[in-house]
Amino acid sequence: MAELESLGEVISTDVLIVGGGLAGLAAAITVKEESPENDVLVVEKATAGWAGKAPKGGGILAFITPEDTPEEFIRFHLRNIGCFLEDQELLSEYARTCNEVLDYLDSWGVKLAKEKNGRWKYIKLPGGELPWGLVGADLDMCQRIHRYTKKLGSRFVNKVSVVGLLKDGDQVTGAIGFNVEDGTCYIFKAKATILANGSQNYRIMPMWSPGRGDGIAAAYRAGAEMRNAEFGSFINMIHTASREVVFGAEECMYNAKGENITRKYRPLPQPDIHTDAAIAWHKEHLDGNGPIYENADENLLGRGSEILFATDLVWDRPVAIAFWLRLWEKEKPAMKDDSPRREIVPGFIGELSPVKVDHQMATTLPGLFAVGDISYNGSAWTGAVPAPPGRIRGTGLMNAVWSARRGARVAARFVRELSAEPKVDLAHAQELKEGMFQPLQRESGIAPTELVHAIQEAVAPIKYSNWRSEERMKEALGMVLDVRAKLPELKARDTHDLAACNEAKSMALCAEMFYRASLERKESRGWFVREDFPETDNVNWLKWIILKDKDGEMTLSTEDIPIERYSIKP
Ligand SMILES: Cc1cc2nc3c(=O)[nH]c(=O)nc-3n(C[C@H](O)[C@H](O)[C@H](O)COP(=O)(O)OP(=O)(O)OC[C@H]3O[C@@H](n4cnc5c(N)ncnc54)[C@H](O)[C@@H]3O)c2cc1C
Repeated sequence: MAELESLGEVISTDVLIVGGGLAGLAAAITVKEESPENDVLVVEKATAGWAGKAPKGGGILAFITPEDTPEEFIRFHLRNIGCFLEDQELLSEYARTCNEVLDYLDSWGVKLAKEKNGRWKYIKLPGGELPWGLVGADLDMCQRIHRYTKKLGSRFVNKVSVVGLLKDGDQVTGAIGFNVEDGTCYIFKAKATILANGSQNYRIMPMWSPGRGDGIAAAYRAGAEMRNAEFGSFINMIHTASREVVFGAEECMYNAKGENITRKYRPLPQPDIHTDAAIAWHKEHLDGNGPIYENADENLLGRGSEILFATDLVWDRPVAIAFWLRLWEKEKPAMKDDSPRREIVPGFIGELSPVKVDHQMATTLPGLFAVGDISYNGSAWTGAVPAPPGRIRGTGLMNAVWSARRGARVAARFVRELSAEPKVDLAHAQELKEGMFQPLQRESGIAPTELVHAIQEAVAPIKYSNWRSEERMKEALGMVLDVRAKLPELKARDTHDLAACNEAKSMALCAEMFYRASLERKESRGWFVREDFPETDNVNWLKWIILKDKDGEMTLSTEDIPIERYSIKP
């Protein structure tokens, strides 16, 4: 122990939770409910209660309304969203139990919209017959849950960025990180560790900035398996002038000749945005028909979201209304006129979320669990689609709480059944510490922003990440590997820069996972579209692609989907 203390400040706990966003808070509550005697420590890079995506989101939750049934939801999901790449058993569990999330949130003090009779006040999206509805929660939800979490006795450490996972053999026994303000090294010893630190969004779209893939990279480096990494290429259409997301623009896209290109590329009604919007945008530009515009007069979803987000006509949500009004006010100077014809471009969001977990959110390493966005695709209930939102807006918040409940219960049980105190491999911890601080010690080198921009150039262009071909993906992977080669030259000027350096390493690793897995899948399915393999191949590709580190090399394998065991077949 004394030796470990020589590395930095050592804090011991029963359950360590990395990330104080919605999933981390929900996990902390659940462990305390399950085993009040357990010490729970939440480590957050920013400030818990304010941190993460939930406070900057839409606050919309998708649930199975009294008009819908779980069976309809499952069938719709398989046919239209996940395209039979789902783990059908977990999808079925989700469909049957996700509504409990609304009750939990309500009991933790979150303000959810209700009718006078106490039922959830929901809406159904117009158009298609979608087997779910949307209910609104106010955007102070994490502050309220944070207060509840503290009341149950969880401890919090803010401003500490976790970079690596401590180990004892294969078992994960805690984590190592540093304070982003004063550079103190922290060593967290834990009987069980729950990663709740989000997906990878590559720092492109500002509102998605919490998603920097640190937890994904830490889990991968510790030896955990990854699954479904090829689906992390989510986009929203955004206004070119303001860079803000414009919901529903994909339904009313026009080229410079005035032709409606939505009808050309997206003939059938769709439940949400699809990669086909980005591909249409790209191809029209290649054909010389750009720029591409949204006709705001035809955008029903856009107008609907303005009502939902910025008025109390449907849901009384004062914090959300203030947030969205302020955001759109800031957007106004960029929109030079009131013309409904506004140029749009795909805004790359990514949402790589590949940490592989079983039905209880346990990773492939003993002692390590992963909940919320970090393992959304890795859990496989969503199938062939980037997650969140998995083409169902409102499942990000639901999955964060739903998966946290499952993972935290099993983590608490894991702690109860542990026969010995966890040990930490000191040499490994020392190695992690040296790697983490190296950019600060270097006299000169490359600024992290330079490498982050280089990674963004490899992932954001539609020709690489959404309209895929072997040749173009190899080009993009080459760009990522060039970045990887430069990572040892990263130079941090201060501790904030040090966080950016470690994030750049995580981003490069995530981009490599994305392209290696994408090159492996030789078909098109759901969100995953290849120019060179345009057909869905149910004979050879009802498989999950698994990535794993072996002595510093990224190895790939496949796992057959047990389709014979499932009741619904393609
Ligand atoms: C603009 C926007 C709108 C959205 N709207 C909706 C919506 O209406 N409905 C819906 O269902 N979903 C929505 N989502 C998605 C939803 O918010 C997320 O799916 C959900 O909040 C994820 O929660 P999480 O706790 O898993 O991850 P996050 O919210 O990303 O939390 C991860 C936390 O970990 C911390 N962290 C990261 N790295 C480290 C580290 N190395 N060390 C310590 N801490 C770390 C982060 O600071 C963050 O607080 C939206 C997202 C965005 C960005």
